[in-house]
Amino acid sequence: MARDTGAQCKKCRREGLKLYLKGDRCYTGKCGIERRNYAPGQHGQRRKKVSEYGLQLREKQKAKRFYGVLERQFANYYDRANSQPGVTGENLLRLLERRLDNVVYRLGLGASRSEARQLVRHGHFAVNGRKTDIPSFLVKAGDEITIKERSKEFPRFKELMERAAEQTPPAWVEYDAEEAKGRVLALPTREQVDAPVEEHLIVELYSK
Ligand code: SF4
Repeated sequence: MARDTGAQCKKCRREGLKLYLKGDRCYTGKCGIERRNYAPGQHGQRRKKVSEYGLQLREKQKAKRFYGVLERQFANYYDRANSQPGVTGENLLRLLERRLDNVVYRLGLGASRSEARQLVRHGHFAVNGRKTDIPSFLVKAGDEITIKERSKEFPRFKELMERAAEQTPPAWVEYDAEEAKGRVLALPTREQVDAPVEEHLIVELYSK
């Protein structure tokens, strides 16, 4: 399966904001944006005039990087969002939020989306009692996400379960610390999605 293995901090520096791709490190002074808040590369510190197309392109790249999705897959999400009723940009973000790796991350059971994705891929989670190891699996309202019993004994899972118990997830999901399981209460509204993306620019880009 294709995956993006590029340097994470460079992606944030390119977009000029924190995308929180490296888990706990993102909250420390070691964060690449804290240390060098300019674009990577030889000409990274030059001020450039950005065209309308450039703005739209950057917004798409930002969304892709935030959710850790590759180009083709992102275009497929757009096509699907465009064919759904409602506002295409909001549909797009809702689809990206519904990915199982994102939901695991939102529940606090991964320090970053990439860690959540790896844990999903390694078969540590079940959706509605059924082992699900596909990070792009789309959850529905009412779905229950559980951790495999044996995985709960792993030191990393013990840490993650503590983390999940301490944090407040977005309002559309809930985490039951007693049972160590998550539930999708409803599909997210735009206001409940904290992605730093102006989705209308992405729609403009793909509408050309
Ligand atoms: Fe981005 Fe995290 Fe790297 Fe900071 S530490 S630049 S937020 S990936």
